Amino acid sequence: MKGIHIGMVTAACVMAGTLAHAEDRPGFRDTPILPGGKWHVHDPDRPAPAVVTPAATPGGAPSDAIVLFDGTSLDAWHGERGPWLLEQGAMTIPSRAQSGGENNLISKQEFGDVQLHLEFRSPNPPQKSSQDRGNSGIWFMQRYEVQILDSYQNATYADGTVGAVYGWKPPLVNPSRPPGEWQSYDIVFERPHFAPDGSLARPAYVTVLLNGVLVQNHQAMLGTTIWRKVAQYEAHGDKAPIQLQDHNSPVSFRNIWVRPLPEDAIAQDLKGATR
Ligand code: MG
Repeated sequence: MKGIHIGMVTAACVMAGTLAHAEDRPGFRDTPILPGGKWHVHDPDRPAPAVVTPAATPGGAPSDAIVLFDGTSLDAWHGERGPWLLEQGAMTIPSRAQSGGENNLISKQEFGDVQLHLEFRSPNPPQKSSQDRGNSGIWFMQRYEVQILDSYQNATYADGTVGAVYGWKPPLVNPSRPPGEWQSYDIVFERPHFAPDGSLARPAYVTVLLNGVLVQNHQAMLGTTIWRKVAQYEAHGDKAPIQLQDHNSPVSFRNIWVRPLPEDAIAQDLKGATR
């Protein structure tokens, strides 16, 4: 076996010619330079991606995630009027009688560009209809809503369906599960950028998978979510909390984690490949 091994190494060196030194990672330095002017094609000096350990089960938090809710504590959040209900590994929006009024839940940490995983469950049996049935929402930066609604056999306006950028873009499809079943959201949110004069330089974008089905694909957001009006942007900072909406319906949540995204996670044009 030893002889075979040496033979393979020799053959590889001959074939590669300018293959990087043995102590380096494999790659090539005699190849063309990529856009950005920094790296060769297959450059051995380009930094290796950081290792992240995925969760043991699908939907679980990977090793570099910030867990915002694991079923045991509401410590990562504060309610506008008090905590949400914590029972049986889930948190549920309290009734208005319990909270005394609208009681949105706000993350203590602030985020800009972020990957989010969240699971929600619509009340069962369903109550009321249209926008009053299982309504909640994920408000990135406390401004930009991805709708949560019980949209299983529940007629409503398209841009208010679960998976919608509320008031703007309906979901591509409606992959809702029946009320009472847990449903998953996996979302990549890219924050908007503003010029020094406050004008919009780049809109927010959102990619959304609902129950593993793509419902928004790098969709530009129109502005700060607003009911019955056309959304507009107002300049703000680079980070803000994630807010879960209290819309007077006892929606439950579990397994919420985020991964703040580095700058190079954001889609770049062909001139920007520097890492
Ligand atoms: Mg909503």
